[in-house]
Amino acid sequence: MAQLIMKLAGGVLAIAWWAMQSATPQADLVLLNGRVLTVDDRFRVAAALAVRDGRFVAIGSNEDVRPHIGAATRVIDGRGRTVVPGLIDTHVHALDVAEAEVAQPFQNLQSIDALQAWIRGARSGQPSTRPARSGQGDEWIWTPRVYPTRLREHRFPTRAELDAAAPDRPVAVDGAYAFVLNSTALRAAGITRDSADPPGGAIVKDAAGEPTGLLRNVGSLLARFRPRSGSVSLDMLEQIHRQYLAAGITSVIERGATLDGYKSYEELRRADRLRVRATVTIRIPRADDAAEVERFIGGLAFRPNSGDDWLKVGPLKIVADGGILIGTSFMRQPYGLSARQLYAVDDPRYRGFLSLTPQQIASAIAIGHRLGWQMVVHVTGDAGVDVVLDAIEAAEKAQPATDRRHTLLHAYFVNPETAARAARLGVLVDTQPAWHYKDADALADGLGRERLTHFIGLRTWREAGVEVAINTDHMFGLDRNEALNPFNPFLTMYSATTRRTEGGRVIGGTEAVSRQEALRMMTSMAARFSFDEKNRGSIETGKLGDFVVLSDHFLTVPAEKLRAIRADLTVVSGRVAFERQ
Ligand SMILES: [Zn+2]
Repeated sequence: MAQLIMKLAGGVLAIAWWAMQSATPQADLVLLNGRVLTVDDRFRVAAALAVRDGRFVAIGSNEDVRPHIGAATRVIDGRGRTVVPGLIDTHVHALDVAEAEVAQPFQNLQSIDALQAWIRGARSGQPSTRPARSGQGDEWIWTPRVYPTRLREHRFPTRAELDAAAPDRPVAVDGAYAFVLNSTALRAAGITRDSADPPGGAIVKDAAGEPTGLLRNVGSLLARFRPRSGSVSLDMLEQIHRQYLAAGITSVIERGATLDGYKSYEELRRADRLRVRATVTIRIPRADDAAEVERFIGGLAFRPNSGDDWLKVGPLKIVADGGILIGTSFMRQPYGLSARQLYAVDDPRYRGFLSLTPQQIASAIAIGHRLGWQMVVHVTGDAGVDVVLDAIEAAEKAQPATDRRHTLLHAYFVNPETAARAARLGVLVDTQPAWHYKDADALADGLGRERLTHFIGLRTWREAGVEVAINTDHMFGLDRNEALNPFNPFLTMYSATTRRTEGGRVIGGTEAVSRQEALRMMTSMAARFSFDEKNRGSIETGKLGDFVVLSDHFLTVPAEKLRAIRADLTVVSGRVAFERQ
């Protein structure tokens, strides 16, 4: 009997010993002496963390975490610095950056003078221009992307200004959803005083009925003159991802890829060169035609939200209206005559455009919804948002589904009723505070300060209970502050928390959110946009070991220093992916 008890006790001891050993396995990486903002539900702050096999295994005090240090563990001394979860940028266009950058490195042109000088340079062969798709456009000069809000003059260049820079070659100023052509380009494109507006677009004409050169929402008219879209350079894509890591970004959502774009990500992954976690949004190519939408979605070779911790193929995207930087957002109220200079709008009733009819929007969303997809919609104006919410509500009614997380992209003009309606429908908002920083000065003059009070109104969305991700919409260029748009996440969070513009004005200060809230919108809340909240977005045991050591204290640094915070060290899956020299 005594022997049996001894045996049992020995067994228990052995089990206890084994349990202790397995409770503190040797970590791959440990950080001590940090100020770790875990961004968990209670926003707990810890001093130390440990990562093993790519996931956090311990978070707590130095004493809690030290037992995880073994002979092979890399130990980082946090030296009191702030540590945050790996940042998530839910809206980038790295594929487009990669394609554009190889052909023509982006330049941030900030005045009409600079634009003219650039055109003169292009005309004499420097910098180089790309051959066009059909050979028809070889002569065309396409400028880097510019927006009137970001030109010193706060207006588009005129046709005459473009003629002065290049009288003999077609020039197109690229403003995304708007273009300005010089006289040679208008001739080459066959646009005359007799040309009718294309569906959903406008050929702007002067009082005498002549085209001014400004075209809105007419991409298809110019497609054949556009430079050929080459294949994406994987080297460049990888280089862009390294820039993200250097900014503290460890996960991104590509916000509008083709199927080929997704394949580029797969290739990068296969070559073991995918440096950030990526979710790839696929844009539906023919959203205006219900049969095409049905065929496209039905023919996709993957299921909604499929993939793994590194690469997922995410929601489907349609584009409902234009952009506010160029005056094509579809607004409830007319732009008004103060918008004349900024957007060259003369019609006092002008409210912008939908780029699809409400019926087309409703049917594309309904089809995607019915087939099980999360739908994301580019929609910038408040009237556009009304149309999209109508469509989502109808789709839900026809086929109730839980937790589909349909998402408004941009949705810049918020009001409490719209926010409440979005919350009720479970709709998420993906938006870009740095546009407030860059553009609110010009927009306040053009649209009226009143309308700008709730521009990118984060607090209104949050008070209604809407989940919001703040992000950058990075499209061109490799410098985090000079890119279009800047992808410095600390500029995004600076703007979200201060509402201070580049010109130094505070516009709509009541819409500012706390630093904790802003950080959530780039971490734990952002993770929900790709259904990844169980896996990333906070520093918690079991989640992916992604974190960033910052150069300054995020919660306490003076506001004006917030946007200058840098990533000192970026860790993905417990491996140092970037270290600032
Ligand atoms: Zn975008």
